[in-house]
Amino acid sequence: MRGSFKIAEVAGISIKMHVTFLLLILIFGKWFFFVLAVFFFVTIHELAHSLVAKKFGITVKEITLLPIGGVASMAKMPEKPYQEFFIAIAGPLTNIAIIIIFYFPLKWLIGNEIFFGAFRSFFTGYMPKLAVLPFVICQVYWINLILAAFNLLPAFPMDGGRILRSILAQKYGFQRATKIAVNFGHIFALLFGYIGLMHGRIILLVIAIFIYMAASSEELMVDVKATLKKFRVKDILPSQFLTLPFDATLSKVLELIFHSHQEDFPVMDETDKMIGFITRGDVINGIHQHGIAGKVSSIMRTNVPKVSEYKTLDEVQNIMQSNELKALPVLKNDKVIGVITTDDISRVYSMMSKRR
Ligand code: ZN
Repeated sequence: MRGSFKIAEVAGISIKMHVTFLLLILIFGKWFFFVLAVFFFVTIHELAHSLVAKKFGITVKEITLLPIGGVASMAKMPEKPYQEFFIAIAGPLTNIAIIIIFYFPLKWLIGNEIFFGAFRSFFTGYMPKLAVLPFVICQVYWINLILAAFNLLPAFPMDGGRILRSILAQKYGFQRATKIAVNFGHIFALLFGYIGLMHGRIILLVIAIFIYMAASSEELMVDVKATLKKFRVKDILPSQFLTLPFDATLSKVLELIFHSHQEDFPVMDETDKMIGFITRGDVINGIHQHGIAGKVSSIMRTNVPKVSEYKTLDEVQNIMQSNELKALPVLKNDKVIGVITTDDISRVYSMMSKRR
């Protein structure tokens, strides 16, 4: 996410803090350390989602901490409803596990009065004059219960909403289940917004707007996927394309980019076999490094995934997203038959959505 900086890395996942997070210092002042402690558990919650996602083969690039909570960015959506179910439930379950594990030790160490007083304080604003530190520790502990409960509300795309969608998807299919879950998300967003306005809780208002927009954008994404599933690469593959010999110079490639509409090229050896792939970004970086006399073979990618013409467009889009590429070579019997790009794919979607 833009405007965020890395603060840690766990199991190959970067944990980043968004600059707006620092607003919390302004809002909470000396309570900022309390906020940090809360976000420690938010991070554990997001890590639980991420680790389960990784188990299902979904890459998690980063976890971003925003003032309203954490967001784990996954390279693609889970394909099977049961995967979404387990990924979604892992977060709240982790908070519940923390509540259970520390319940008796904390209660015994700190005593019933402060232990339960800290929980009630969320609703009454009560603050003791003595034993402030044990009290705050208990508040941070109880935050886990609030995190679990709040996230389990069926306000899509919050965890409870995802759990709801995964259950509905078994019966109604993914697209219809999403529509229903998004409606729930919108209703909750309006409710949160109303409560936020009535009680002057800005953060609740921000969460409401966030949920509303995130629900709508997931609905659009699911619609796009459903449309793209109906088409295969061969249905839209441009019939004309250019390839590069491995000894071409970067100035030659630049010329080709300007004269054609193509920006990404398969690189061929003397026997006309593909040995690499080069994107516009690679060419620009290559010119910075080697100058325009640099050779294609020294900067080409050799491990680009190849797709067959029978792949559906949503599969191709997944491959592009998880490899952070905007174009892929299409091969048939080991021979390059074209290049498919994100532009080709989005053109299909915009055509199909206009027709409706
Ligand atoms: Zn969650």
